[in-house]
Amino acid sequence: MKKNADMELCDGCGTSALLTEKNGNEFCPSCCQVAEVLSNQPDLAIKLAKLTGSEFERSDTDEQNPRELPDVLDAVRYRTRDREQNTWYVSVSEMEGDPVEIFASTAFDRDQHLQSRISNLTTITRLISLILRHVFLGEVLTLDKTVKQLHRSSRQKNDLPDMLSTVLSNYRKNEMGENG
Ligand SMILES: [Zn+2]
Repeated sequence: MKKNADMELCDGCGTSALLTEKNGNEFCPSCCQVAEVLSNQPDLAIKLAKLTGSEFERSDTDEQNPRELPDVLDAVRYRTRDREQNTWYVSVSEMEGDPVEIFASTAFDRDQHLQSRISNLTTITRLISLILRHVFLGEVLTLDKTVKQLHRSSRQKNDLPDMLSTVLSNYRKNEMGENG
């Protein structure tokens, strides 16, 4: 799989760094520490915000806390066929009966003719998984995450997900509120 370091950006501050996964988000070391305090010691976070005169209010009345994705999940695997009779395996990870991730694989992973179809299907399942985690776990959706999933779905230079992630990358700075 190709690797492009500048695509691996912190979901928090958007800088390129060594990332740690936390509740479906990927954070740089600084944001990781902040996120750690926010989720494990919310009262400390509020106190620090007050002490530093920062605007910060806890609003757990209108918003549910995101559910954590556990390390081990039950999955159901379905065997299915496309219209050209290729066999595919579709796995749905479930959490308390809700679908939270979907994967698809084929026994013909090295078939050259299937490469573009595999990358397109990977794109679909990665984006659906992102949506499912948002719907059922409360994970926050961002443009960066969308681009990251497109980028990771790509198997060859200039395949469809690579093309789409390149186009959408042009808008990433706007979301971070940076200039230039
Ligand atoms: Zn960060």
